[in-house]
Amino acid sequence: MKIPYGKQTIDDTDIAAVIETLKSDFLTQGPKIKEFEEKFAKYVGSKYAVAVSNGTAALHLACLTLGLREGDEFITTPLTFAASSNCGLYCGAKPIFADIDERGLLNELEIENKISLKTKLIIPVHYSGFVCNMEKIKEIAEKHSLKIIEDSCHALGAEYKNSKIGDCAYSDISIFSFHPVKHIATGEGGMLTTNSKEIYDKLILLRSHGIEKKDKWGQDMTCLGYNYRITDIQCALGISQLNKLNAFLKQRRNIANYYDCAFKNNSSIEIISPLKDEHASYHLYVIKVKNSETREKLYDFLKENNIFCQVHYPLVYFHSYYKNLGYKEGICPNAEKLYNQILSIPIFPSLTKEEQDYVIAKIDEFFKIN
Ligand SMILES: *Cc1c(COP(=O)(O)O)cnc(C)c1O
Repeated sequence: MKIPYGKQTIDDTDIAAVIETLKSDFLTQGPKIKEFEEKFAKYVGSKYAVAVSNGTAALHLACLTLGLREGDEFITTPLTFAASSNCGLYCGAKPIFADIDERGLLNELEIENKISLKTKLIIPVHYSGFVCNMEKIKEIAEKHSLKIIEDSCHALGAEYKNSKIGDCAYSDISIFSFHPVKHIATGEGGMLTTNSKEIYDKLILLRSHGIEKKDKWGQDMTCLGYNYRITDIQCALGISQLNKLNAFLKQRRNIANYYDCAFKNNSSIEIISPLKDEHASYHLYVIKVKNSETREKLYDFLKENNIFCQVHYPLVYFHSYYKNLGYKEGICPNAEKLYNQILSIPIFPSLTKEEQDYVIAKIDEFFKIN
């Protein structure tokens, strides 16, 4: 028995949906893409959705569409997957890292401190499935005429002040990933949502080479686009997974609640809790090890017991590529402190009660002797 920190949940209806598409006329550029986009937009409450090959492609297209280019700066968090920042590098822009709060979310004051005349946009990340203070972030963005791309890869199904993540109530574009560890899986896959027709039209064009179809065989390439298309096979799986999303979310929230109760009285760790106007989606369940010196030992101990945790994330500017660009330790002290304490323990819909009890028992056992 090996327990990973996260994995997909695929059943026979998912498999049947994929097989049906394999037998259909379209493996790509067919009707399943539009169907997935429409159902996704309806679920999150946005006007438009554009499905793409993965979450990173979604981030790249979002930056391009909002006009990010060489010489610009954008602000994001260091506690995220590198793609949240790489997307801006693709456009020749410079990532500026702002510090985070104790829940791992971008701090609004830190954002404001990092704004310069070159700043073009902000990319908040709803770390682990908790929601950034979007009201404040939007206020700051409006004050300084900045655009907002929400990296919502952790937050499909999360809610905040009567708004569902993805409805773009507080942003220009929201992006998602369907990598197998995320809330719904398509193998590889991603989505952008927006309420702007203009942004939607640009995204459709950029997703497929920048080429517009004209009459008969006529085509015109009006901008430099990419092949960031998703396939009908993946979208068929996505539609089938989306049908189960509410059940998946319920299972994730139940597990989180169970862990919360179990760890409440453990004085060696701290848990991260949602605020009252926030309904978290628990892509990850992150514990903070108060004595950071024991974090690695805990990781090893759990691994010896077949529980495979992970650290989300080594800070973006700790990567050697970023160090070579000139980023140095000390930019975001809170993030650096938090990075040394965090550990993501198993959470995914099919994690059984027995497995949850086993994880809890092993963590308790570790802290009895450490
Ligand atoms: C998964 C993830 C991405 C990238 O998604 P891919 O589909 O793997 O390209 C970007 N940002 C965050 C925060 C993620 O968790």
